[in-house]
Amino acid sequence: MNNEVIMHEINPGEYSYSGDIYKYNYILMNEGGFYMDLKNNFSKITKSISESASNVVQKSNELIEVSSLNGEISNEEKKKNMIYIAIGKVVYNSFINKAELSEEIRHKCEAILEHDEQIKIIMDKIINVKRVKKCPNCGVDMNISINFCPDCGVMQKLIEDDNTL
Ligand SMILES: [Zn+2]
Repeated sequence: MNNEVIMHEINPGEYSYSGDIYKYNYILMNEGGFYMDLKNNFSKITKSISESASNVVQKSNELIEVSSLNGEISNEEKKKNMIYIAIGKVVYNSFINKAELSEEIRHKCEAILEHDEQIKIIMDKIINVKRVKKCPNCGVDMNISINFCPDCGVMQKLIEDDNTL
């Protein structure tokens, strides 16, 4: 595409034609005395004008608008992901309540149970590191060697104290 643009000095508000119908001189700035000589055919001139001086402003406005619209899209995606999680919980609860489920879903639910087992093992490790256990009834923290909760009196599960060995 022949988009050659030449800057000339000219009085503000002035217009000029070259003899050739396909060659136009068009004033792009009213102040400062510049115009652009667009050596192009007529249909391309309108396009060139719109892509020239105001181009930078237009492009940056476009970028701001596009990034704001992209932000809206990612908001919608986040909301979708929340719904996916909610759907998953509904399905998992159906699994727990022994509802009939497809094999694929059943495998995924069983995988969650395996992770629950891992979490229990890790929680036991934490108890041993901190030498503190939580009352299953009231949630109060106590030393692992205590048999009855000092707060609610409920009998506690005995935990092997690795650190005393
Ligand atoms: Zn308690």
